[in-house]
Order: sequence, then structure tokens, then C-alpha cells
Amino acid sequence: MRGSEVKVAFSEGEVERYARHLVLREVGGPGQQRLKAARVLIVGAGGLGSPAALYLAAAGVGRITLSDDDHVSLSNLQRQVLFATGDVGQAKTAAAAEHLTALNPHVVVEPAPAVTGSNVAGLVAGHDLVLDGTDNFETRLLVSDACLAARIPLVSGAIGRWTGQVGVFVGRPCYRCLVPEVPPDAETCVAVGVVGALAGVIGSMMALEAVKLITGAGEALGGRLLIYDGLNGESRTVRVGADPACPACAR
Ligand SMILES: [Zn+2]
Repeated sequence: MRGSEVKVAFSEGEVERYARHLVLREVGGPGQQRLKAARVLIVGAGGLGSPAALYLAAAGVGRITLSDDDHVSLSNLQRQVLFATGDVGQAKTAAAAEHLTALNPHVVVEPAPAVTGSNVAGLVAGHDLVLDGTDNFETRLLVSDACLAARIPLVSGAIGRWTGQVGVFVGRPCYRCLVPEVPPDAETCVAVGVVGALAGVIGSMMALEAVKLITGAGEALGGRLLIYDGLNGESRTVRVGADPACPACAR
């Protein structure tokens, strides 16, 4: 039954391309069809957005919107594996679209501008899932509030120095329960540095959570935060409590 569904939905090339998914009990033909039908918004084509976009394109997510206004710079290449030296100076979304469709021509990649307060609702609309890998709290809170309002699940990742975190927010608790407002002492990777491979670890975890949410496999990190300490090789998962005074999701 599952085999015949696959033959109807996918070309021979797609069946071969996605063979390792199709034999996975938790994905299979139905899961691969869900991936193909999925529309995912990735906010930020940087250290986290790079591996997340590569793995989601490779996985056969049908439509990927990439939101970013930056151009590729030489200092990006230490961790932003989506780009090559020849891309320096190019718009990130254009370079990314080229590389992602070269990886998987079955995926439609749409470039989009960076998130602002006035465009965030329109950017989020029409997507099944949002991944946020931006490096500033202003954008993270805008994206979280918009996802909450539109009832779209949010996969959020963050990295700095040797430590990263990833969480999934579906309704309450929301990201603002964790970070109510922009912290006054927020650090940036520009100032404190970040080890390149950590972006790969956390960005890939974001893609993995996205694949789980889309296919319904396993238990997504809903209401939980996975914290990875790369310097000591340790990870832990903590519950995110719903803030009774959360300005976004508390009733
Ligand atoms: Zn909240």
C-alpha cells in the first residue's frame, strides 16, 4: 500500500533520492509526501539557517522561503556552509537559492526580505512551519509573536561561543515566556565569537525537529529547550515553563 502511494506521488528519481527516508518506518511514503507538500520559512540565512536549509532541501521539503537582507561576507564562511568563496558579495538569498536548487531541483526556494515589524505577519502567513536562526532578540520576538498569532509552530535555535540551544514552540509556552523582552546585555557572535561546527550541530537539530513536526515522527521538543555545551561535550533538556505574566501568550 505504502509502495503504491509512493509510485503515484514521486518520480523514479525522487524515489531513489529519498530512498533512506522511504524505508524509515517513521517517514515512509506518507511522511515523504508531507515533506514535499510542506512550506517552511527560514528566518536568517546565516550559521543556523545554512545547515537547516541544506538539510530541509535535501529532505525534499517542497517550498522553502529564506528571509535575509545580508550579502555573503568572507567572515561568514567559517560556519555558513551554504555559501562558497565565489559567493562573497552576493545577496545571501540569491546565492542560497542557487545552491539549494542545485542540491535538489524538486525544491522551490523563494528569497524574502529580512523580518521587520511591518512585514513579519505577511512573511509568516502561508507557511506550515517557521525556523528562526537569527542573531538578535528583536527579530526573534517579532517572529515568535507572529507565529503565535498565526498558530504556526516555531523551531528556534541560538548559538554563541561553544554553547547552543534549540527549542520548539507551538502556542503556549511561547518563546516570549523564555525571553520576555530584549535583554539589555545581549551578546552577539560578532563580539564573543562562535565555533563554526556548533552552527552545524544546532542548525541540523533545527532541521531534524522540522522533519519530525512535518512528518509527525517521534516527540518534537515542544515546550522544552535542548542545551548543548560543545566545549564539555554535554547536553541537557530543560522544560520551558508557561509564564503566567507572558505579554504574548498568557490569557
Ligand atoms: Zn508566552
